[in-house]
Amino acid sequence: MGLDSFTLFAANAVVLALMALAFHFAGRRNPDQAYWHSWFAGNLLLAVALVFFMFPAQLPEALSMIVPNGLLLAGFGLRWRAAREFSGRASPARSTWAPTVLFLVLCAIPPVAGSYATIYSIVNILLATLAGAAAWEFWRDRDEQLPSRYGLVAAYALLSLSFAARVIQGLFVGDSFDAYLPNDAMLTLHLIVALLHTPASGAFALSIAYERTTAKLRHAAAHDSLTELLNRGAFEREVTARMHRDGNTGQAMLLLDIDRFKRVNDGYGHAAGDDVLRACARVVEDVAGRDALVARIGGEEFAVHLHGATAHEAEQAAERVRTAVQAAPITAGEHTLNITVSVGWFWHHDAGLGLEAMLRQADVALYRAKQNGRNRVERLAGRGRIAYVLAGQNRS
Ligand code: GH3
Ligand code: MG
Ligand code: MG
Repeated sequence: MGLDSFTLFAANAVVLALMALAFHFAGRRNPDQAYWHSWFAGNLLLAVALVFFMFPAQLPEALSMIVPNGLLLAGFGLRWRAAREFSGRASPARSTWAPTVLFLVLCAIPPVAGSYATIYSIVNILLATLAGAAAWEFWRDRDEQLPSRYGLVAAYALLSLSFAARVIQGLFVGDSFDAYLPNDAMLTLHLIVALLHTPASGAFALSIAYERTTAKLRHAAAHDSLTELLNRGAFEREVTARMHRDGNTGQAMLLLDIDRFKRVNDGYGHAAGDDVLRACARVVEDVAGRDALVARIGGEEFAVHLHGATAHEAEQAAERVRTAVQAAPITAGEHTLNITVSVGWFWHHDAGLGLEAMLRQADVALYRAKQNGRNRVERLAGRGRIAYVLAGQNRS
């Protein structure tokens, strides 16, 4: 079987239909993600368009030229829409269908209707633009690190170039066209490019969605949904990893507990309490320092781990956090509240001391800060391997 245009059109149509099916299945699992429906519909229209192109001689001119080209433009309009929906951008129906409508309107104008070359150039200009626009949608969001986006950019950019080459062909040699679609080497080349593009862009469209879902699940598993800080589990894993990397360096654990927080909940409501937690989290994160790990490890308790810090730096950080919370006007609903925290901290440079021991010792210091009147900083100083806390008693 040679690479004649009938075979290539048929192969493209089959691949497009299969991709449409894959998108349909993905969409059934995720009905809230509109882009699956647009990918599905776009690929389906393109498959139908190619079936029309397979039988140009048997069909009246309107069906072999106007209808399939209109379907191509609608299909690529929907793919562009899918790319915008994936980026979370507005995708109004009028922009999706505008290229198709523009083409149909132009085809009704006599000078265009009478010239194969003009129709050919117009269609390919619009298709090159739509494929380029889809590539641009994936390129512009590079900050969201999803490696498959580069596959999509490459697949759409390549296709856009192939359409652009056809624009040049239409403009310079189009006058010699004796049929709308000359069955030439350019067509064969373009259909081969399309045959590579469709499975590649389809596979990358599926994998980019998978990458985003995985990243979201990973983020959700490691972060507290209220404050977006690390949760306790992730904090413990990251601190332990840091300690394994370089256990002998000075490090500090700071534990913070909001003072009289129950009064906020009782006086202003639970939602206001949540606002306070979010606001405190931002303040602590802002002032803890660039290399600090900050987590919400309990209801209104936060932890800060400093790595490669001296005891003096740890003390400064603890005091900085305390004064920053005290100074910040914290808004909860329509109220602005004065919030304070008590801070207990523990510093050491003992490679053998585990995370549990650090947390326990910082907790004893925190307890002492509460006992001594709140809104204050207390420390337990580490001295080598000496454990200060036995059975919850502070012996220092
Ligand atoms: P202290 O100064 O001794 O720490 O006093 P406190 O009132 O802060 O005491 P305690 O630690 O016992 O109170 C913590 C309160 O935090 C109790 C709980 O209802 C509230 N809390 C825990 N998690 C949340 C949350 O996610 N949102 C809100 N709004 N409140 C929470
Ligand atoms: Mg408290
Ligand atoms: Mg507490």
